[in-house]
Amino acid sequence: MHQELSGSYFDGVTSRAHRVTLAVHDGAVHLTGDAQRSTPLAEMRVAERIARAPRKLTFPDEATFEADDQAALDALLHATGHRDSIVVRAQQSWRSAIAAICVTAGVLVVSYLFVLPAAADLVAHNLPVSVERQIGQGTLALLDRHVFSPSRLPEARRGELAARFARLVPPETVDGPAPEWHLVFRKSRIGPNAFALPSGHIVLTDEMVELLQDDDGAVMATLAHELGHLHGRHLTRRLIQGSAVAAAGLLISGDASSLVAGLPALALDLHYSRDAEREADDYAVALLERNGQPLAYLERVFEAFQRLEHKGPHVPAYLSSHPDTADRLARVRQHDRHTP
Ligand SMILES: [Zn+2]
Repeated sequence: MHQELSGSYFDGVTSRAHRVTLAVHDGAVHLTGDAQRSTPLAEMRVAERIARAPRKLTFPDEATFEADDQAALDALLHATGHRDSIVVRAQQSWRSAIAAICVTAGVLVVSYLFVLPAAADLVAHNLPVSVERQIGQGTLALLDRHVFSPSRLPEARRGELAARFARLVPPETVDGPAPEWHLVFRKSRIGPNAFALPSGHIVLTDEMVELLQDDDGAVMATLAHELGHLHGRHLTRRLIQGSAVAAAGLLISGDASSLVAGLPALALDLHYSRDAEREADDYAVALLERNGQPLAYLERVFEAFQRLEHKGPHVPAYLSSHPDTADRLARVRQHDRHTP
């Protein structure tokens, strides 16, 4: 079999059309004229027929041939038995495209579910203390400028609460020593709140003390819960997960300023995972138990939250960030029954 057609050859590098004659023989495509090349037919790709667009033959290096006479090209492809393989190739390319999409989606999901948390965990536990201090102090400074004002609690009262918490011995844990903490009191524009910053600052708002009805035990349990978040480095991890790219920069440069900008919002409207909350609750339970304090302290915190929930739709950020109050209360109560 020996057929020829004339057409234009584009080398894929320049836009210039080379006039060529295409022939198919011995299982290969041969071009002669302004451009000359021979390529096995099996390595050629044939564009699917799309409306009236000229049908192109594509070489492995992306150079193309466009026939002057489309019908002649169709006839030639038919004669060389290429038609069947076009269909097969089209199917294969669809299959491989779908497979590629599935693989890509899979990689993304696995990264999101496993690699990112693991990386965040790794980064969080290897972050230099100076960086965590920088993050925490930067955040507190921003919050002081925009959300907080100095605490109105009497200095003696603040000192009393801090001293009482300092007397509590942290629970013994397998994963590292107890975190260092520094209690700070603030009056807040956004209601009851307590959170721990990566620097070890545990922020307690006047409104939280008020919500807990000046109940020292409940305040201790709240602080113990926050110390649990600190121990688990939950905020640092959340922060890193929430801004993986900035975190990568942080690892390289050691400069946390790009991360700090987003932190106040995160700290105030924090949505920890249920696992993180459980870890913090468990830590609080362990701390209370180690010090011979009743778990009722923690139960009273949850009860205060429930009273607030019943008050109406304006649930402060702290509560909305700590959902399932009833679940948590039930869990601690169950723990209480099993403890002698
Ligand atoms: Zn919490």
